Amino acid sequence: MKVTENLQRIEENILQACQRSGRNRQEVKLIAVTKYVSIERASEALKAGIFDLGENRDEGLLAKFEVLKDKPVWHYIGSLQTRKVRNIIDKVTYIHSLDRLSLAEEIQKRALAPVNCLVQVNVSGEESKHGLAPEAVIDFVRKAASLEKITIAGLMTMAPFTDDENVIRHCFKQLKDLQVEIQQAKIEGAPCLELSMGMSNDYEIAIEEGATMIRIGTALVGEDS
Ligand SMILES: *Cc1c(COP(=O)(O)O)cnc(C)c1O
Repeated sequence: MKVTENLQRIEENILQACQRSGRNRQEVKLIAVTKYVSIERASEALKAGIFDLGENRDEGLLAKFEVLKDKPVWHYIGSLQTRKVRNIIDKVTYIHSLDRLSLAEEIQKRALAPVNCLVQVNVSGEESKHGLAPEAVIDFVRKAASLEKITIAGLMTMAPFTDDENVIRHCFKQLKDLQVEIQQAKIEGAPCLELSMGMSNDYEIAIEEGATMIRIGTALVGEDS
């Protein structure tokens, strides 16, 4: 499938999810996750009118960063090893996977300007998932936001892999509640305006529950090319 065809279908679904939940299309940023696909396919996504690309490895990001002529906004969405920070730090606009203080300190050390970070939360409690436990998040946000190169731009989660829509929805609702709690705490350096949630299988539910960033790979650019 061409990216343009996939995009058209996804855009319709996004619009309908926005309508169902009384939201504006402009409130939801679509990130094309290009981690499975070639540079050519990523380029096709940019030509189709997408501005934001997500990668989960430094190699993948760097390879595409160097050659893509239409410069996208880069999102780092994968678990980030501390020693990899310096490879990507001056290339990405958002890091969606801040999950520990040692990582925040490395970003603080390497960044030239404040970096938009999203705190990854393991809402579902699955052992296989990265991220902080929900009850640890607010304390972590206070500590990380006190570093001047860290802006806590929002929260990120991955829902469990299940067909049970209620489980997925509940997971997204909990992330939204946590965002409200952080916003109410009015922590300097932590505006926390973004909710990065929703992938190929669950982005419509995520939008209904308040996602401002959806990360779509398979349904948009495919799994390999
Ligand atoms: C791979 C990945 C995605 C995209 O997943 P799809 O199911 O292919 O849409 C989104 N978010 C993260 C963190 C990922 O690693």
